[in-house]
Amino acid sequence: MKDKSSNVVWHANAVTRADREQRNGHRSLVLWFTGLSASGKSTLANAVEEELHRLGCNTFVLDGDNVRHGLCSDLGFSLEDREENLRRIGETAKLMLEAGVLVLTAFISPMRKDRERVRSLFPHGDFLEIFCDASLDVCESRDPKGLYRRARAGEIGEFTGISSPYEAPVNPELSCDTGCDSVEASVAKVLELLRERGVIAE
Ligand code: ADP
Repeated sequence: MKDKSSNVVWHANAVTRADREQRNGHRSLVLWFTGLSASGKSTLANAVEEELHRLGCNTFVLDGDNVRHGLCSDLGFSLEDREENLRRIGETAKLMLEAGVLVLTAFISPMRKDRERVRSLFPHGDFLEIFCDASLDVCESRDPKGLYRRARAGEIGEFTGISSPYEAPVNPELSCDTGCDSVEASVAKVLELLRERGVIAE
């Protein structure tokens, strides 16, 4: 998007990200869950958040359906609007990162280049991509909101996996087999990654 605010200068906060992280007792970070609709992004992000919250972490889940009610309610599902949707979410996550939050995002985010653009907003190591890897067959058989059925019936256009593309991550920080593994098993994998990265204690 064209930058219309080139005369605005970034104001450095007196309380820094490092100050906030120190008080929280953990680093801030973005966990970016990507996958087909019904692959389990929201389920997994929320289950991981519950566990992190229980451990005393400062967390927040940004969820596709929720931001589309407010922040991105003016956007549709064309590839162009999806790109702008992700740009806004990336910038929101970036502000939350500065606020010391462990941010978990649950967006289909189908295009590799859009995910890479979001990744480029963050310092190396602060953005972890987690692929919720469930096949279209599995997602379609779950169909918790009846969206696949409606997409197949032609009632919803530009539906990811049916009439709009999904590009699987090539080199995500973590892949969870959310088509086969239990939610608990996937949560354990994510927590293991966070321990390995020193985000939470052993
Ligand atoms: P998404 O956010 O990717 O659209 P949701 O989390 O909203 O997906 O929906 C996934 C659906 O699949 C939920 O109804 C959830 O209960 C179900 N499900 C079944 N098994 C799993 C699993 N192993 N991991 C995640 N979700 C699962």
